[in-house]
Amino acid sequence: MLKPQFIGHEIFRHSTYGRWHPLRVPRVSTVMDLARALGWLPQDQFITSPRAKPSALVNWHTSDYIAALQRVEQEQEAKESDRRRHDIGSVTNPVFAEIFRRPATAAGGSILAGELLRGGGVIYNPAGGTHHGMPDRANGFCYLNDPVLAMLSLRHHGVRRIAYVDIDAHHPDGVEVGFGGDPDCLMISVHEARLWPRTGGIENDGGGNAFNLPVPRGFNDSEMAFVRDGLILPKVAAFRPDVIVLLCGADGLEEDPLSHMALSNNAQLDVLRGLMGMAPRLLVLGGGGYNPWSVGRLWTQVWGVLNGLEVPETLSKAAEDVLRALRFDGNRRGKNPPVHWFTTLQDVPREGPLRDEVKAGVQRLANRRLWR
Ligand SMILES: [Zn+2]
Repeated sequence: MLKPQFIGHEIFRHSTYGRWHPLRVPRVSTVMDLARALGWLPQDQFITSPRAKPSALVNWHTSDYIAALQRVEQEQEAKESDRRRHDIGSVTNPVFAEIFRRPATAAGGSILAGELLRGGGVIYNPAGGTHHGMPDRANGFCYLNDPVLAMLSLRHHGVRRIAYVDIDAHHPDGVEVGFGGDPDCLMISVHEARLWPRTGGIENDGGGNAFNLPVPRGFNDSEMAFVRDGLILPKVAAFRPDVIVLLCGADGLEEDPLSHMALSNNAQLDVLRGLMGMAPRLLVLGGGGYNPWSVGRLWTQVWGVLNGLEVPETLSKAAEDVLRALRFDGNRRGKNPPVHWFTTLQDVPREGPLRDEVKAGVQRLANRRLWR
């Protein structure tokens, strides 16, 4: 496979978790529209995501849970037992119109990516990244766990050594359930300390090769660069993976309503740039991100970086129109968005002090050896 491939789907355009849920905002469709407006998404690089069949999902999820999701979608109602056993129909994981089809489409893209990457290449599935999903239950807005399913698909196609790097603001508890204790899987997560789900303490090695770095509020670009150079890149290099799976959540950006980190979008992109070329295969997934502008601006640039494209300093009218059409109802950041959220993709860097606790955390994990 020569050119990077973008996996997307129209289902993400109008699907919403409900009027008050953080996932009420469009994300993947913004990236598709922006990339097309920039002339960055030719037909030969776009793949319409297939919807995963239940028979593929039960590779990791329980068949009872998958059947429950399908039934709840059909009936548009969760029973008390669905709530109790699978956490379907809670405030966090509500019943919505596409409660099965939407996550199954994101998962189908990730499973397909595992197959297409068999021989090498680069794939971007921004709808993927639902890293909290559990085998038998929904968790943290995630009904399925597409990163786990992608990694199982990679394994199924003969790709053994996986470096999973997660720079979402939240700890990937579901992925750790899936791959904790696997000697051929390196897991590195950088996440905000004491944020939900409160797992992923620095002492937690996930039964082997998990390196968890909780970082303080206000985590800035300079600190992320230090983490990248002191922890992420050296560990991945030492591990010599066959594939890198990067979960590039946008919720660590300063304007995100769910975290308290202070990154500009340059920070995540610099991690991506560092990882590119370190393995013969690269899969980039989306993840969290609840401010529609910061998600669209970061994730579109991810696609640009994967293709070596130059980001225009000022966007064309067509691209600007995509950003101007976004709404962020029910959040103060939606009232008077700054003009650069419409006219640019790249943030001004947010450099800052390198705090001792970040330094100490990186040091401690850098000194810990790979498990095998
Ligand atoms: Zn997150």
